[in-house]
Amino acid sequence: MRFLDLNPNGGIGANCTVCESGGFRFAIDSGLHPKFAGNESIPSHSKIERNSLDFIILTHCHLDHLGSLPILSREHQDAPVLLSYPSSVLARRMLSNSISVMKRQRNELNLRELPLYGRGDLVDLFDRMKTLSIQQPFTLEKDGRSIEVTLHHAGHVAGAVSVEIKTPKERILFTGDILFDGQRTLDGAQPLLEKVDTLVTETTRGLSERDPSRQRESEIVNLLEESRKTLSRGGSVLIPVFALGRMQEMLVVIDEAIKRSAIPKVPVFCSGLGMDLVNHFHEISKNTNRIRFNRRVLRSLGARPLPRKLEPGREPPMQGIYLVSSGMLVEQTPSYVMASSMLGDDRNCILFVGYCDPSTPGGKLLDSVYGEPFEFEVYNHVEPIRAKIKQFDLSGHADRDQLVAYAEKLSPKNIFLHHGDPKAREWFADALKPIGANIINPEPLQFYET
Ligand SMILES: [Zn+2]
Ligand SMILES: [Zn+2]
Repeated sequence: MRFLDLNPNGGIGANCTVCESGGFRFAIDSGLHPKFAGNESIPSHSKIERNSLDFIILTHCHLDHLGSLPILSREHQDAPVLLSYPSSVLARRMLSNSISVMKRQRNELNLRELPLYGRGDLVDLFDRMKTLSIQQPFTLEKDGRSIEVTLHHAGHVAGAVSVEIKTPKERILFTGDILFDGQRTLDGAQPLLEKVDTLVTETTRGLSERDPSRQRESEIVNLLEESRKTLSRGGSVLIPVFALGRMQEMLVVIDEAIKRSAIPKVPVFCSGLGMDLVNHFHEISKNTNRIRFNRRVLRSLGARPLPRKLEPGREPPMQGIYLVSSGMLVEQTPSYVMASSMLGDDRNCILFVGYCDPSTPGGKLLDSVYGEPFEFEVYNHVEPIRAKIKQFDLSGHADRDQLVAYAEKLSPKNIFLHHGDPKAREWFADALKPIGANIINPEPLQFYET
């Protein structure tokens, strides 16, 4: 096969992979880089000729995989977009939100190219979406040749899939973002367990070694205990989360905890997109028993939307739990403004539940120490760090050792390293050596041939 990574900066970001196998050319995912905006945030689509893709596959609806799909599909008008049923529901809401965000950024950041796509592009994209059943091979044909696409449950977030490609010559597996362990609201991956020729594996957690004493359930217990202590001393809890997946999971965790009095009943505030997605999760869970979610959780918690006009640095409107995006405190997001109002008070706490890139405000905060001044650059505002800052390991990605063990089971001839920072990929390149495969850590925008 031929392999081309169109994510111009490497690492994790604007994910988009182009492959050629058995006479077909296809792309997997087309994301937006969460740290950039405008043209800088999209994959280098122009590296491939317009209308040259036979099909496109979406692995899941996080924006680093989905955010520029309307652009890619606009450039490849005949390519059907293959995806799982939950993704077909979630993609609509995520992309329409993405247009609103880009319209706002147009003025805030003075980027004239924004929005990068409009409602019309979404209509075209939705028309070309084809929902595939999981573990049911789907055959595409062209010039007397055929290729088979099979999606497998990948855990991670509702609708996430690994992708198996089969031609008469070879079998390829793309793990996508994958989590083998189950979560409160979502079952773990049901991965392919047959030999493959080429494996494209995610490498997100290459640098994080799992401390055996910190398993998922014990992390949840510790997070709730920290919240209980904070609320009992009159403080508020800020939990920065991804709006898609992590927020719904945390809603269920908090609701259960309040019901068994593990934490006191206080107001719970959520950001808008996450609350909207609650309805979509509810709909999806009616059609699959792998997702356990009911929108009643919002009523049970008395969850309310975050007040609209929040002033940076001003005390939170009332004591409570603030479950708001973004997960990494990216500038101008609800969690960023809430952090600016909560950081200076030592009764409060900020509890991170996922990975924070070191260059984001969340990453910088995790790197700082108590008492230091912390600058909220876009507000030109400084707060001393007095709130308690903690991080819990509730990642949506498989542990690195689990991924190595998985690669071993598939005994591939070639392994491409994907979706990971340079150092994380290095760890995998080393750890995968005993398998004896040809390990490729692809440079962006270069073709590789196996
Ligand atoms: Zn993801
Ligand atoms: Zn991702």
